[in-house]
Amino acid sequence: MTIVDVRTPDPKKFIKGATGDWEIVIGMEVHAQVTSEAKLFSGASTEFGKDPNNNVSLVDAAMPGMLPVINEECVRQAIRTGLGLKAAINLKSVFDRKNYFYPDLPQGYQISQFKQPIVGEGKILLDMPDEQVEIGVERLHLEQDAGKSLHDQHPTMSFVDLNRSGVALMEIVSKPDLRSSDEAKAYLTKLRTILRYLGTCDGNMDQGSMRADVNVSVRRPGGEFGTRCEIKNVNSIRFVGQSIEYEARRQVAILEDGGEIDQETRLFDSVKGETRSMRSKEEAHDYRYFPDPDLLPLEFSQEFVDELSGHLPELPDDKKARFIGDYGLTAYDADILVVEKASADFFEDVAKGRDAKLSANWVINELFGRLNKEGTDLADSPVSAGQLGSIIDLIKAGTISGKIAKDLFEIVWTEGGDPARIVEDRGMKQVTDLGAIEAIVDEILAANPDKAEQAKEKPNLVGWFVGQVMKASKGKANPQAVNDLLKQKIGLE
Ligand code: ADP
Ligand code: MG
Repeated sequence: MTIVDVRTPDPKKFIKGATGDWEIVIGMEVHAQVTSEAKLFSGASTEFGKDPNNNVSLVDAAMPGMLPVINEECVRQAIRTGLGLKAAINLKSVFDRKNYFYPDLPQGYQISQFKQPIVGEGKILLDMPDEQVEIGVERLHLEQDAGKSLHDQHPTMSFVDLNRSGVALMEIVSKPDLRSSDEAKAYLTKLRTILRYLGTCDGNMDQGSMRADVNVSVRRPGGEFGTRCEIKNVNSIRFVGQSIEYEARRQVAILEDGGEIDQETRLFDSVKGETRSMRSKEEAHDYRYFPDPDLLPLEFSQEFVDELSGHLPELPDDKKARFIGDYGLTAYDADILVVEKASADFFEDVAKGRDAKLSANWVINELFGRLNKEGTDLADSPVSAGQLGSIIDLIKAGTISGKIAKDLFEIVWTEGGDPARIVEDRGMKQVTDLGAIEAIVDEILAANPDKAEQAKEKPNLVGWFVGQVMKASKGKANPQAVNDLLKQKIGLE
């Protein structure tokens, strides 16, 4: 592949070495398990967590004479993913045999796509804190997953579990356009968001449905690309970041010592936070790729693609633009809401017919903040969109103050119930009765004559008085009314 450098070197991302600056170059190969009930070439189930060798057909076990039959659902999912990545869809692609031996690969080869993948070039937009960057996608191809060797079940024997053997994977290969560990993490996060919106991969890295091979090299800023090392099968976004930071510095140290980088495959040890050598890099020709004679080239029509394209869901970039345009949210808030489709839907349920910014505030700061603190998912939130909406309605109607609203949120979170009812039953309504507020204001002013005198010169002190009155009213006084009355009585108006 000829590499075109599309990025301008950015000093903020450089590694400072003993001999000058270095730039990190990263390209990722992400394996994403296709969401599909059956495997790529057999009818066996893909269900996670079954006992070993329960999801294995004769095809997956490579019994002699068995023939693979392509699963049309997996083809559809790969095309939909390609469309979501704004990529070229190839109406004709070819399945090849990638030959190698491994005990958990009974066929002796993996069926993959090599020269003619189902999806060609696409792109992924990253919203970094102070810039938007476009990362090129080189290709997406379909391939089989392998089984798993189990070495920890018996003192002298290894076992093989073929449940994953033949499960459909999409390998999504980026161009070497990433320039920092933060960008690499953002890329994986964004890719996972897109896959989840599309429903083509569940993105659960802890269950192995998404794994990343991270290619890292370093070079002098803007210079020739360096020799890369590939860190295999990194299974969390945090580890991707850590492995890049470690690997780039390891390479810089070698180069600054006058050494050379061996192109090799490495593993990330998450306990030590280090990468270590696994094997020297294999080349494509080592695998003796050739078209699988059991499978015809994969061909479909443009109409088939158009039909799928017409039924794609709204994707995160479009949703973000709509949240900014229609609801007037900041890009920052919109970003937080669209990362998961469920969060975006929840926000829209709350914001329907209400003040959108206030709704975003409550969803993000109060609800998400609280969920985070408790380590709970939105799906298990004790506060529903309807309940949060009612709390916002009560604030908007002036029935409760913002401060009381937080107490109310706390009650709904721990006890549940209808917010309006709770306010009614527990006497949490805001006092707008000016007479009652005035009595408290007078009391506080009388108790602090010196401060009241100072406030004439230092209007900032009014804030202190507002605080005292609010406290005395147990947060129920209308803060605006308190403010107005205080200014009037102190003589600032
Ligand atoms: P191969 O098929 O041998 O693994 P590719 O050229 O397809 O090699 O590249 C695999 C991955 O490595 C891609 O994600 C690509 O962006 C990345 N890559 C290629 N060259 C470099 C480099 N010099 N530094 C970092 N990543 C690179
Ligand atoms: Mg590769």
